Amino acid sequence: MPQDKGLVLIVEDEAHIADLERLYLTRDGFGVHVESDGRAGLAAVRRLRPVAIVLDLGLPGLDGVEFCRRLRDGGDWTPLLMVTARDEEADRIVGLELGADDYLTKPFSPRELAARVRTVLRRAAGPPGEPVLTIDALTLDPSRRSVHLDGRPVELTTTEFNLLAYLMRHPGQVFSRAQLQAHVWGYADYRDGRVVDVYVSQLRGKLRDASPIRTVRGVGYSADPT
Ligand code: CA
Repeated sequence: MPQDKGLVLIVEDEAHIADLERLYLTRDGFGVHVESDGRAGLAAVRRLRPVAIVLDLGLPGLDGVEFCRRLRDGGDWTPLLMVTARDEEADRIVGLELGADDYLTKPFSPRELAARVRTVLRRAAGPPGEPVLTIDALTLDPSRRSVHLDGRPVELTTTEFNLLAYLMRHPGQVFSRAQLQAHVWGYADYRDGRVVDVYVSQLRGKLRDASPIRTVRGVGYSADPT
């Protein structure tokens, strides 16, 4: 089986889960490297430069939340999928705020894991040759995956970028949280609307007064010129 899709780093302390993840990602054509604690995981990101990271939230030593914080604080935007237990909801929200791109709740099917990794990677690549989008002082270049505000670059995570790009492609059009989850995250069924809210507030925090995202009460969000 060719492993030509690049290397995925799994950071997971439960060996049987790591083995299952490795099996399915390998079957899907990814190379896989496994680390069982957060510190070794961070070192492996720097050493191996994986195309994506599958991160368990509950890790000994350096936990998944702190892993995420250190990775993103260090300017590393590798697509990251968090794996969480059901009772870790609060941590999951924090993880998303810190720049995780998506999450899976245990127990999940290994097939679902492979599909999520593919989606995170596809979204990171974006459609080729799309024109630059502009709203007021904000410009977004889908093919370069760059955002500029008054000509200055703005650092966004993969998912922040995808959400902003989606809204900017349809200026003035209002989308419900369920629609945004379907289009931006690729979820077939509506899951947790707060995930969308978390990313909107992250974008507003980074773009401040220049954020084009408008809340339409009781409906959802749109991107509008001021
Ligand atoms: Ca664990």
